[in-house]
Amino acid sequence: TTRIVLAERPVGEPKDSDFRVETVELPEPASDEALLETLYLSLDPYMRGRMSAGKSYATPLEIGDTMVGATVSRVMTSGDDKFAPGDLVLGYSGWQTYAIAKTAHLRTLDPSTSPTTALGVLGMPGFTAYAGMRNIGKPKEGETVVVAAATGPVGSMVGQLAKLAGARAVGIAGGPEKVRILTEELGFDAGIDHRAEDFTEQLAAATPDGIDVYFENVGGKVLNAVVRRMNLYSRMPVCGLIADYNATALPDGHDRMGWFMRQILNQSMLVRGFIQGEFAPTQMNDFLTEITPLVAEGKIRYREDVVDGLDNAIEAFRGLLTGRNLGKLVIKVSD
Ligand code: NDP
Repeated sequence: TTRIVLAERPVGEPKDSDFRVETVELPEPASDEALLETLYLSLDPYMRGRMSAGKSYATPLEIGDTMVGATVSRVMTSGDDKFAPGDLVLGYSGWQTYAIAKTAHLRTLDPSTSPTTALGVLGMPGFTAYAGMRNIGKPKEGETVVVAAATGPVGSMVGQLAKLAGARAVGIAGGPEKVRILTEELGFDAGIDHRAEDFTEQLAAATPDGIDVYFENVGGKVLNAVVRRMNLYSRMPVCGLIADYNATALPDGHDRMGWFMRQILNQSMLVRGFIQGEFAPTQMNDFLTEITPLVAEGKIRYREDVVDGLDNAIEAFRGLLTGRNLGKLVIKVSD
C-alpha cells in the first residue's frame, strides 16, 4: 500500500514536510479481517486536531502513524464470509491505497444512494448535524436557525433540518458563489457572506426576529457577531471552531470571556458542546432510516467536492481549513 503518514506536528497551517509518503507490504487478512482497496477518502476538519499533541476529544496520532480517515473501499479478499470480493463498504482505512481492516468495523453500503454519500450527507458529517439539532438545537416552527460553513456537509444538513422543522434557515458562507448556492440549491431562506465588509449588517437584515438556534461550526468573528443577536432561551450546539484550528495563539485584544458569559446569562442561553460519537450508538440508525430516503428522493440536497488522486490530499486538506472546498471534500483514490 502507498500511504501518507504524519512526519511532524504542524505549527499553524500544515506544510508538505509535516507529511511523508511511504510504500509498504500488507500481510494476508486473518479470519476476522478483509483486504480493502480505497476508492474514496473523506477529508474532514477534525484531522487537523489529530495531528497536534494537545488534549482533545480524540487521541492524537503518533509521529509515523498513517493519517486517519473514513473511506469507501472495495473488498479484495476477505477472511469473513459476510463480505465478498467486490463488495463496497464504509471503512476507516485512512490516507492509503489499500488496508487490512477488522470486518466488525465495516458497513456494507446502501445501493440506493451513490457511494460517496456515506462520507458526507449520509455519513459522519450529516449525522453530526442531525445529532446536534435533535438533541440540542431543537428548532421549532417559526424560529430562526443560523449556521456557518453552510455549504459544507454539516452546515447544509443543519439548514435543511431547520427547514423540515418549519424554521427559517440562514446560512453563512465565504464568497458570492457559495452564498448563491445556499439559497438556489440548498434551500436556505437567506445566505450571507462572512468575508463581506458589511457582514454584520447582512446578518441583521437576514435575522429580523433575532436568532433562536446558532449551530456553531466556526467560532471567530462569526460567533462574535451572532452572539449579539441571540434571543431569550436560544440554543447553541457547539460543534466546531474551524476558524481557530490553525491558530498558534489566542487572539490579541480584550479578554471577551466575561462579556460572552453575560450574554449567556442575559438571554438564558443554552450553550452545549458535543461530539457526534456521543449520540451515534443510539441515534445513527434513526438518522439513516429517516434521512436516506430523503436523499434518494432528492428532498435533501448536498454538494460534493471530489479531488482526484491521493497525491492531492495534502493540498486539498489545507484548502478545507481555509474554505477552498465547495461541499463535502472527498479524495478519489481509485476507480
Ligand atoms: P466544511 O466542508 O464545511 O469545510 C470547512 C469550511 O469551514 C470551509 O469550507 C469554510 O467555508 C469554513 N471556514 C473555514 N475557516 C473559516 C473562518 N475563519 N470563518 C468562517 N468559516 C470558515 O466542513 P464540515 O462540514 O466537515 O465541518 C464543519 C464543522 O463541523 C467543522 O468545524 C468541524 O470541525 C465540525 N465537526 C464537528 C463534529 C463533532 O462531532 N462535533 C463532527 C464533524 C464536523 P466558507 O468558505 O463558507 O467559509
